[in-house]
Amino acid sequence: MIVIKVGGALGINYDLFLQDLAGLVKNKNQEIVLVHGGSGELNEISTKLGKPPKMVTSASGHVSRRTDKETLEIFNMVLCGKMNKMIVEKLQQLGVNAIGLSGIDGRLLVGKRKNIIIVEDGKKKIIRDDYTGKIEEVNVDLIRLLLGNGFMPVITPPGLSYENEAINVDGDRAAAIIASSLKAEALVILSNIPGLLKDVDDESSLIKEINKEEIDDYMQFAKKRMKKKVMGATEALNQGVQKVIFGDARIENPITKALEGQGTVIQ
Ligand code: ADP
Repeated sequence: MIVIKVGGALGINYDLFLQDLAGLVKNKNQEIVLVHGGSGELNEISTKLGKPPKMVTSASGHVSRRTDKETLEIFNMVLCGKMNKMIVEKLQQLGVNAIGLSGIDGRLLVGKRKNIIIVEDGKKKIIRDDYTGKIEEVNVDLIRLLLGNGFMPVITPPGLSYENEAINVDGDRAAAIIASSLKAEALVILSNIPGLLKDVDDESSLIKEINKEEIDDYMQFAKKRMKKKVMGATEALNQGVQKVIFGDARIENPITKALEGQGTVIQ
């Protein structure tokens, strides 16, 4: 069993990616769970709708997307609607019986809604209408039920809070907990970059291998959202996933190449 996370950043070639995915499922009988994001598309569409993305920095220094109710509605439109159904449709065209699910469907991804505390004019302030959080539980039975009956799950945020509200959760870290809950042999995280780079502006600075005991030393290279990928990788490896690979989603056969070791392999 492999868990694959793809995108959201712009520039990803979904046709090439999904062809490779369909080949692995149909010809190699590989059991795969797909998790996707949609941050690039979300930024574009929310801007067109007159509600451009707003990031907030918490008092502890974490940056996250400000997700009020209206943002959450756009989030659902783009991720559960446009992106998820685009991927499921293409997989159906490739002969894979994909089924799209968000984290709220069947309580697939459940976790804690966060209280975002910001500092404004030197004072701490809680933002009360924000819906972001972190997944702590995965409905493994539901995923196994689907896989066991020949369906390929295509999973997208949001998740569900313990109070049963939709929450914006990070796709990479959701993929990480899905992989560890399923005891997957590998977690493949594909994006619009060749892997973890020493210098984000220089694609030839790819870090090819990381010993999982030393992963903390590499956090310094990850900037912005890449940090979430390294955090997700650390969480997955600590919870028993044998191997995490960061690979390039823009190339032909991106999954096969990542599994062959192209990208950043952490084990
Ligand atoms: P996705 O939406 O596909 O999950 P993100 O946009 O969240 O991808 O993260 C990938 C981005 O992280 C890259 O496009 C790159 O700009 C940025 N990044 C920051 N630091 C690094 C790094 N050290 N190596 C590679 N990418 C990095």
